[in-house]
Amino acid sequence: MSTLNTDQLDAIKSCKLFQNIDPEIYRYELEECSVLSTKPGDILIDVGTENKNTYLVLSGSLSIHLETIDTHPIRQVNVGETVGELSVLGETKATAVVVVRQPCHLLVIPRKRLWGLIRKSANISQNLLFILTDWIISDNERFIDRSHEVENLKGLSQLDGLTGLINRRELDKLLNRVYTRSQMSGKKFSVIMLDVDHFKNYNDTQGHQAGDQALIALGAVLKETVRPMDVAGRYGGEEFTIILPESSAKDALKVAERLRKNVEKKEIKAKKGDPLPSITVSIGIGESSNTCSLEDIIKQADNNLYKAKDSGRNCCCM
Ligand code: GH3
Ligand code: MG
Ligand code: MG
Repeated sequence: MSTLNTDQLDAIKSCKLFQNIDPEIYRYELEECSVLSTKPGDILIDVGTENKNTYLVLSGSLSIHLETIDTHPIRQVNVGETVGELSVLGETKATAVVVVRQPCHLLVIPRKRLWGLIRKSANISQNLLFILTDWIISDNERFIDRSHEVENLKGLSQLDGLTGLINRRELDKLLNRVYTRSQMSGKKFSVIMLDVDHFKNYNDTQGHQAGDQALIALGAVLKETVRPMDVAGRYGGEEFTIILPESSAKDALKVAERLRKNVEKKEIKAKKGDPLPSITVSIGIGESSNTCSLEDIIKQADNNLYKAKDSGRNCCCM
């Protein structure tokens, strides 16, 4: 049994659980509860253990951690706030660690006392509902944040690290999807295969880092130049692919020609900002038909790319 001093009674009055409630309603129940003195580092509730009490902070503060106390706290519990209601009422094992942050005096409200208060006053029940709702909302927000992090990581695994374009694996998936859709709709699509000219020589004369800068610049041109409905990706090395849904080879040739010119005039800079020589690209185009397999279309684009190389490079063939 505790004798609560004035400061402690004030903390209780300011507590969300007892807000706007006549102290006479809860005084008896709370005076039956004990006051616990704790020091920093004391663990009040541990993950996976049964928790039988709700703690009301009369002085000091607590922090809540998701797994261990070494992790960043997800919340701080200050004077007038409570912790532990959810596991007490749910009769579930605690899902977080609650640790003492600053020396605390805590009012320990055992499960049966909490139920006593709930039964005694509809207003206390209502306050408790608000508190529980807050916990659930912050849990949901954390869950959503985590989901976004997972989505972002998934996004990263779909992208090529150097250029930020989609990688070969995603290109293959997308090609298959576009091919299937085109088979069903009967609408043509086209594929552009693009290869940097004499890139081995570029690396040999300018260095591999300069080569990387050139590929980054090329990636930027691709992003800027392709139409919103088209998708550009890195096929591998210095080869790139653009998928153009619902487009004929003639439509693709216009995009390819624009690309070729934009690459030619793109300024390339070293990491430190010094200018580097520009690059050129050769481009081959493949067009779908209802008798072609996906491999046939890629092969056609590849053959046209070799034709462009044979024709002297820095040109497009269809
Ligand atoms: P062509 O005009 O016939 O395409 O000649 P090329 O020199 O471009 O072709 P080749 O296949 O002989 O050489 C391609 C070069 O691209 C060799 C390789 O080191 C370079 N390369 C591929 N990926 C990267 C990369 O990520 N960074 C850099 N810097 N170079 C790369
Ligand atoms: Mg190549
Ligand atoms: Mg090349």
